[in-house]
Amino acid sequence: MAGTAVSGRLAWQVARLAAIRQETATARTLVFDIPGWPGHLAGQHVDVRLTAADGYTAQRSYSLAAPAEGGRVELTVQRVPGGEVSEHLTGPYAIGDPVEIRGPIGGWFVWRPADRAPVLLVAGGAGIVPLMAMVRARRAAGSRALFRLVYSLRTPDELYYADELRKPYAGLDITYVYTREMPEGRAGIPRRLDVATLNSAAWPADFEATSYICGPTGFVETAADILLSLGRDPRSIRTERFGPSRD
Ligand SMILES: Cc1cc2nc3c(=O)[nH]c(=O)nc-3n(C[C@H](O)[C@H](O)[C@H](O)COP(=O)(O)OP(=O)(O)OC[C@H]3O[C@@H](n4cnc5c(N)ncnc54)[C@H](O)[C@@H]3O)c2cc1C
Repeated sequence: MAGTAVSGRLAWQVARLAAIRQETATARTLVFDIPGWPGHLAGQHVDVRLTAADGYTAQRSYSLAAPAEGGRVELTVQRVPGGEVSEHLTGPYAIGDPVEIRGPIGGWFVWRPADRAPVLLVAGGAGIVPLMAMVRARRAAGSRALFRLVYSLRTPDELYYADELRKPYAGLDITYVYTREMPEGRAGIPRRLDVATLNSAAWPADFEATSYICGPTGFVETAADILLSLGRDPRSIRTERFGPSRD
């Protein structure tokens, strides 16, 4: 298990796309076969490198969306309009096509099945990806660590992993925050993540929970600031920033 691998020491491996699951109109899960994959921890990510016919390369980071199953690895990619890599991976990239992957990377933003502390997961948009890996790793390990998930998304149509998240799981509570459009029949108005929501969703300070926040940079900073203002220990808050946009 390369739990704390550093990308500089990792070799690029050729992966082939084995399956696609459409999550939303603009996001898809890509299932890869990577012979000899060493395994990974929930929360880690990989680098993906594309090479054009003229030799031009582009590489980006993507979180691992699920625990590894042998050489099978899952990523979920959100299309960013005009995005060099995400438009390719959510567009013409097809079953059987190769791509280079390097990883796993990251040793701090991880959850291990041996961890017993309660967990708060705070996701903004595509930031759900590594947090879903933690939810899935918990289930796969039969862990009884208590999990709470706060998932902020613009509209109900942008929910990833809908079938799985709609199934009740013992020990996992989910709070949805819709920033642009509410689900039909649900009371309230769209709003951003705020103090009141995190105050009721977060574990009380004396539970000594670990919080994992992931999403666009502005979202992560806001959520972390709120948890700090609620008196949570900075050492208990782990963050992963996906990109430059605020929403
Ligand atoms: C550790 C880590 C893990 C990540 N995991 C995931 C993941 O699981 N799924 C996923 O979809 N993405 C993830 N990302 C983001 C991903 O690496 C790319 O930044 C994203 O796919 C855009 O790349 P691109 O080549 O399509 O866009 P680019 O060609 O790099 O950029 C196109 C335009 O979009 C803007 N932009 C770039 N990135 C973003 C962004 N994230 N949000 C909004 N606007 C952006 C740029 O400023 C530019 O204006 C992760 C990033 C990091 C650092």
